[in-house]
Amino acid sequence: MQVRFDKEFTPLCPHCNRALEEVVATRMRHDLGRAYMHSCPHCQKVIGISHRKGFWMG
Ligand SMILES: [Zn+2]
Repeated sequence: MQVRFDKEFTPLCPHCNRALEEVVATRMRHDLGRAYMHSCPHCQKVIGISHRKGFWMG
């Protein structure tokens, strides 16, 4: 599998279908340490949770 980097590509929010030029990261307390909740800046719904900042759906 290849990973293609495309700076023109903008993901869409699965909730409100608006372009995600940025996501809002919120740090939350977690049993195993720190976790980051990533939310859409438009509808504020959570897109993904990860243990590393900036790496969502992981
Ligand atoms: Zn949204």
